[in-house]
Amino acid sequence: MRSDPSDYELISPGNLPAIVALLAAQPGEWLPIAGGTDVMVQYAAGKLANRKLVSLWNLPELRGIEISDHEIRIGAATTYTDLRTHGIVRTDFPLLANAASLTGGIANQNRGTLGGNLVNASPAADSLPALLAYEADLILVSVRGERRVPYVNFHTGYKRTLLASDELIRAICLRRHLGNYISYSRKVGARNAQAISKVSIAALAHMSRDLIDDVRIAVGSVAPIPLRLRETEKIVTGNKIDADLLRAARQAAINEIRPIDDIRSTAAYRSAVVANLVTQFLEKLSRAGTTDDVLHRWHLCPHDQAVAEIFPCCGSFAWAKALVARRPYENDAALIAASDEIWNALSQHDWLEAFSKHPRIGERKAPPTASSQSAAWSAQEQHGVANAAEDVQAALAEANREYEKKFDRVFLVCATGKSAEEMLAILRRRLRNDDSTELRESAEEQRKITNLRLKKWLSQ
Ligand SMILES: Cc1cc2nc3c(=O)[nH]c(=O)nc-3n(C[C@H](O)[C@H](O)[C@H](O)COP(=O)(O)OP(=O)(O)OC[C@H]3O[C@@H](n4cnc5c(N)ncnc54)[C@H](O)[C@@H]3O)c2cc1C
Repeated sequence: MRSDPSDYELISPGNLPAIVALLAAQPGEWLPIAGGTDVMVQYAAGKLANRKLVSLWNLPELRGIEISDHEIRIGAATTYTDLRTHGIVRTDFPLLANAASLTGGIANQNRGTLGGNLVNASPAADSLPALLAYEADLILVSVRGERRVPYVNFHTGYKRTLLASDELIRAICLRRHLGNYISYSRKVGARNAQAISKVSIAALAHMSRDLIDDVRIAVGSVAPIPLRLRETEKIVTGNKIDADLLRAARQAAINEIRPIDDIRSTAAYRSAVVANLVTQFLEKLSRAGTTDDVLHRWHLCPHDQAVAEIFPCCGSFAWAKALVARRPYENDAALIAASDEIWNALSQHDWLEAFSKHPRIGERKAPPTASSQSAAWSAQEQHGVANAAEDVQAALAEANREYEKKFDRVFLVCATGKSAEEMLAILRRRLRNDDSTELRESAEEQRKITNLRLKKWLSQ
């Protein structure tokens, strides 16, 4: 039976102190509502017991992502759209960004919040295995002040949490020291979107050569609460991945979970899928040791070193960080395909950062922001201009000036294999472009330069 709106009261005090005071004054009376994507389902089904609702939506104290050197702090009312589009979440916490992009459809991602997912406490909630793998802490708030609790202790049983009746989740904190970990996640459901998970996994590992030296495996939908597979982790830690280890890990994972039969799946299916996902994760880790030497060595580099090494291939930090976050790559082609995808999705600001690392066509001196490796590659790429006739060099210098006056950035062309005359003709043609057409042409040239540089780097 549907609910009657006149039976309900919804207030929006608009600030956190007023809301926690209200919850303390009448404990259990007022139900917080954030995005409403769980609460409104209960309301529509006539099953919402609380008649008084207090809104957390867009509360400044609860929304947004603060970044510091050692951690990020995600406001509890931050939406999935905020999460999946945030640069640092995407690069440093890909398990969470991925879970956010698989939670419901776009409309749901625009409203649903991470705090709501935690408190709704469904064993099938998609973001929770990622929070377990990242060993998140929660900041809880009430009139008594704030307390910080490890997320792993938050769910005390099926649909139960340790939140007091007058408490809210204020923020979710994730430590930023996992950049050189390899991550793996899968959601298994009837469809990728708009489907509740039958099984989900979020896992991370750090490899030391071909040994697993740290690992975290978290699964959803296979027990009353999301679980860390601690026994499986113990079995694989310190070991090399081979057939015996895969067999032992599969069995340990099956022993640790407590799946049930329900309308979405059966316990037997869930056990088989968990074993397969753990195997897939370990196989992914083992491939980190079988690609060619440069890629293999780079896969094992600490995060910052890996970013610094790849950066000169493109010149954009966002690109380099995103490429590092997706390690390991099966082979060179997979790396280059990922590079293209990341580059095409970057912002104009990131593109301009990369363009600014190139010297003018016809000039030997690289800008001071370019690394020595980038400057050396630029010199090789511009080989075709070095012996050009003086009048062509002068014409290039003049056209460069005109270009910079019009577009306020350096002219970019993939110079490899082109003569000075060819580049001059391209420059003169592109001077007729409007700004956005020219930006896209430059970005495409940068993509080609990056591909060539990646190939050089891989073959050194
Ligand atoms: C069409 C649809 C598809 C969906 N698909 C998925 C999916 O694929 N994966 C998935 O995991 N979920 C899915 N959900 C469930 C839902 O979107 C998520 O659980 C979402 O994160 C809930 O957040 P919310 O802000 O909307 O919560 P609300 O509905 O506002 O609140 C949910 C619960 O959390 C409490 N609460 C909210 N914020 C706080 C806070 N800061 N402190 C204390 N208590 C709080 C509320 O009191 C309530 O009990 C789907 C829902 C719908 C309607």
